Amino acid sequence: MATGKRDFYEVLGVGKNASEEDLKKAYRKLAMKYHPDRNPDNPGAEANFKEAKEAYETLSDPQKRGAYDQYGHAGVDPSMGGFAGAGAGGFADAFGDIFGDIFGQGRSSGPQVYKGADLRYNMEITLEQAAEGYTTQIRVPSWSNCNVCSGTGAEPGSKVEVCPTCDGNGQVRIAQGFFSMQQTCPKCRGTGKYIPKPCKSCHGTGKTKEQKTLEIKIPAGIDDGMRVRSVGNGEPGVNGGPAGDLYVEVHVKAHPVFERDGSDLHVQMPISFATATLGGEIEVPTLGSRVELSIPEGTQTGKTFRLRSKGIKQLRSSLLGDLYVHVILETPIKLSDEQKSILKQFEESLKTGGKKHSPQQEGWFDRMKNFFN
Ligand SMILES: [Zn+2]
Ligand SMILES: [Zn+2]
Repeated sequence: MATGKRDFYEVLGVGKNASEEDLKKAYRKLAMKYHPDRNPDNPGAEANFKEAKEAYETLSDPQKRGAYDQYGHAGVDPSMGGFAGAGAGGFADAFGDIFGDIFGQGRSSGPQVYKGADLRYNMEITLEQAAEGYTTQIRVPSWSNCNVCSGTGAEPGSKVEVCPTCDGNGQVRIAQGFFSMQQTCPKCRGTGKYIPKPCKSCHGTGKTKEQKTLEIKIPAGIDDGMRVRSVGNGEPGVNGGPAGDLYVEVHVKAHPVFERDGSDLHVQMPISFATATLGGEIEVPTLGSRVELSIPEGTQTGKTFRLRSKGIKQLRSSLLGDLYVHVILETPIKLSDEQKSILKQFEESLKTGGKKHSPQQEGWFDRMKNFFN
């Protein structure tokens, strides 16, 4: 990407010690010359325009200019790991900084159109609902035309007039030196309308806020913090622009039994000393059901068993996660004298076999020995 790029100073036709003012002048000249709106028959103009834009954006930023002077294109090219680039913005973008609205918005005269703001809705669901998917209805704000003024924003009996400042264009031209810039009309904020007597009910907005019921489908496998988008259910747009979107942010409640890790589940299972020693079948909970798990003879505490596909469905896939069963050995409590004496007898009987009955102790004593030697 760095190869074949022209020198930024050369692109702008200025010297290495050009002042900020020189750069701006040079860029304006090139932008006027190459703007695609002015060159409908010259497809190459767009490339020239972008080249000038990049050169100007780099050199007008003292930090980037310094990096460019020192390292060339590699110092400022985002793909080279240098400074964060300004991004390949469109034309409106290019003019946002020094040209205001001159071309970008000027192409379509009349009031400017904006997308409405996005809204967020926090929803708390259970792990089971997250695993299986969940459909529910929520109440969200909605906007409709004010029925006092029928959406005009003007007090009944009064009229909506054309904005005298911009003649209804929503934009005004402001002369600045030799340059004339087009900007959003400050009086009507781009609507092109002037309402001498705003409707008291809606304060001149023409809209009233209400509530509506919306059905929201939470897909199976959703995880905490993920968002579901409901297109067009945000705030209304301005001047007929599209409405914003509603984002339902999902919060999955902690579960009393399971811990979740992506699509896998973890559960702690206490087992008796006898089951761990002799082996046996135990019942393990899964989300919504139970399964049998056989514990092999001589199972140690902390041992983990993996039950395939007993976890949660993965989002946008039919694959299931696994269930991990972590075994905890339970120490018996509140023993009777008789039980205690049986246990002591049993303990004595183990001693005749030496360490062979105690795999963990054996390893532990070995490690201790090596530690002291
Ligand atoms: Zn109204
Ligand atoms: Zn106006």
